[in-house]
Amino acid sequence: MSALYIHVPFCLSKCGYCAFYSRVPCKDDIALYLNQLRKEAKERILPGAKAYETIFIGGGNPSALGLAGIEQIIEIIGENIDLSGVSEFTIETNPETLSVEIIDFLAQVYNIRISMGVQRLQDNELKILGRNTLMNSVYNALDNVFNKIKNVSCDFILGVPGCNTIATSLSSFLTKYPLMHVSAYFLGVEENTPLHDAVLNKKIADPDEIGPAEMFEVKKVLADAGFTHYEISNYAKPGFECKHNLNYWLAGSYLGLGPSAVSFDNSFRISNVANLQEWLNKLDPIYEKLSVTDLRNEYIMLHLRLLEVGLDIADLERNYGIQNAEFYETINKHAEKGYIDISGSKIKLSAKVLGFADSIISDYFSL
Ligand code: SF4
Repeated sequence: MSALYIHVPFCLSKCGYCAFYSRVPCKDDIALYLNQLRKEAKERILPGAKAYETIFIGGGNPSALGLAGIEQIIEIIGENIDLSGVSEFTIETNPETLSVEIIDFLAQVYNIRISMGVQRLQDNELKILGRNTLMNSVYNALDNVFNKIKNVSCDFILGVPGCNTIATSLSSFLTKYPLMHVSAYFLGVEENTPLHDAVLNKKIADPDEIGPAEMFEVKKVLADAGFTHYEISNYAKPGFECKHNLNYWLAGSYLGLGPSAVSFDNSFRISNVANLQEWLNKLDPIYEKLSVTDLRNEYIMLHLRLLEVGLDIADLERNYGIQNAEFYETINKHAEKGYIDISGSKIKLSAKVLGFADSIISDYFSL
């Protein structure tokens, strides 16, 4: 399978916790970006390679481009790819920029899927995160979306200092908006963000010290609403897992266009420069050949994060050779403690470790 990602590097304001590459667009930025994107798409989407199964326009905030910008991006993709062969076409949006006109246009895109950054369900909690939106915008945007589009995912942030669990409001939110997919990530403190400064200056508690209880409450609400917890931070109704992200997690190839976009093929990772001006000036991407050890560790991490798929030891050894005694000792130790479930040649993380999964997974890494 092959996947196409397009990075839109614009947001109308910067959220307090965000370290993704994006900037508030200045005059001409959007026109210059679209012009260069057209060239990059022509150069990097090979004429014979039309079989992209999934497309993901992410950011940044793609809906900050407005209707004309979104129309142009989809026109650029259509000039290079047969859109009728695409099985999932996701566009990320933010509620305050998702107009009725954009929704009407997107509703006509084949296999469209809307992914909306909601993050929290109370105005004061959105303010803590430095989001430039209020719940009225979220309700308004989702009312309009659900009139036309049914495949909708929302992103939420857990573990926000000073906030009650989101689980109760999420339950009534799901009754009103029948989402097909939910992503729920814990708040991380990234350097060079206002949140980082606020934690250092003790204006806000450190999110790293908040336990995993909220995740278990959210998991329960989502399970009751018919969602499967298929990846550590992702939940889906049956058949609505994000195909594009599954391709990343199962080490499929993908092409990334736009500033800071990453591509992967076989063992090569190609990273576009995370700077609009340098990307416009066509600064060469960075090419890295991943070592076998890096590829193996990534394979283990991604498979164990896929809670339903898990890690098949037979497949791991087929791809990366016979594993050493230490690897098997770790499996035995984790099984004794109830950290993993073993079935045939497969191991899966147990619910018990979901609050500290990264440290369990890293026990299997080699240096
Ligand atoms: S909308 Fe998303 S990408 Fe933009 S600043 Fe906020 S979190 Fe970052």
